[in-house]
Amino acid sequence: MSELLNLCPACNASTFIPYLEVKDHSVSHETFQLVECTSCGLVFTNPRPEPEAIGKYYKSEEYISHTNSSSGLMNKAYQLARKRAIVGKMKVLESMNADPRMLLDYGCGTGEFLAAAKAKGWVCAGLEPDEGARSQARKNYSLNVEDPEHLKNLPSGQFGAITLWHVLEHVHDLQETVKQLRRCLSTKGVLIIAVPNRTSHDAEVYGPYWAAYDVPRHLYHFSKKPMLQLIEKAGFTCHSVQPLFFDPYYIALLSGKYKNGSSNPVTAAFTGLQTTLKGKKDIEKNSSLLYIFKVAK
Ligand SMILES: [Zn+2]
Repeated sequence: MSELLNLCPACNASTFIPYLEVKDHSVSHETFQLVECTSCGLVFTNPRPEPEAIGKYYKSEEYISHTNSSSGLMNKAYQLARKRAIVGKMKVLESMNADPRMLLDYGCGTGEFLAAAKAKGWVCAGLEPDEGARSQARKNYSLNVEDPEHLKNLPSGQFGAITLWHVLEHVHDLQETVKQLRRCLSTKGVLIIAVPNRTSHDAEVYGPYWAAYDVPRHLYHFSKKPMLQLIEKAGFTCHSVQPLFFDPYYIALLSGKYKNGSSNPVTAAFTGLQTTLKGKKDIEKNSSLLYIFKVAK
């Protein structure tokens, strides 16, 4: 079943305008409507599948976020990007002097990032809705990983850092989840959020074929202003907003495939490079943005 939202999931305003119609290119081939909140500017998928109905939209051999298979060009590009990304993520985490060195990775998948943090001495916990991914994380890295339902049971003020790497756009109960994350952080805590950025250069180039719309799995299509408003309202101050440099090529490769039926690595490299260069001049042109927030004093 699908649910039609009457209130903006970020700011509770009730006036939206149509933004774009986007097809689910990877699983269902159904078309979904995106709308823009006239108050905070959040673009979101509306109507959207209910939490109980979203599972089937993740069931595809092409949907690779939770697998470690490395066949095919797309998978190879994804796996390589993921390995390099873990190094980048660790740099970001270590740069913030979070206190205590206790980390919660919300949407930890099969646990590679947590395993890297654990190796650097962090005490780690993860939340992950996919049962298969959860058991792999436990088995492969002996990690403490629970279903996200468990978030509300975690003790208050425990974590020095909470990370969400391309996860917040998947979370149904947006404001409540952000509130719970704030509750779980210590007074010196940091919240690190990476999401696709809908004002990016590649989103302009590919329009409805932009791979990072990824409907209906992506419920929100964030940009800078609504993100800052949503998180600051929950008791945070913004420390910095940074580009994620590893994403543009992968997104261009996949978007080209959706648009033309096959990927062209040369065109993808060109668009990826253009996005990176434009993103250096204007942060809001980047494919994905990394937001770092501190708990407000
Ligand atoms: Zn809004």
